[in-house]
Amino acid sequence: MIVCNRCGKKNDEVARSCESCGRKLQSSHRPAPVEDSSNWLLSSFRHGGIDPRARVSLQRMIEAWAYVAVLGGVGITCLVYEVWWPLYPAVGALGLAVWLRRI
Ligand SMILES: [Zn+2]
Repeated sequence: MIVCNRCGKKNDEVARSCESCGRKLQSSHRPAPVEDSSNWLLSSFRHGGIDPRARVSLQRMIEAWAYVAVLGGVGITCLVYEVWWPLYPAVGALGLAVWLRRI
């Protein structure tokens, strides 16, 4: 339902102009404000809206991904240079770290 700005006549949703006065109608439906979903994490951190348990699990997750990234980096480096010895201490150290952190 679109209400005419000039005469107040209720027009059909699909109507382009007012049935009564002919005024060009604008849809009353404004596009809903787009939720910035990419920013919700940052903003919830900023406002402290995230509860501590979720924060801890998030930190754990980030830490786990950091280990994976380090391992991946070492692995790629080994692939590129075709030397495999750095892989073993890296895996050992990461395994120890993961075990100590009990991820
Ligand atoms: Zn009208």
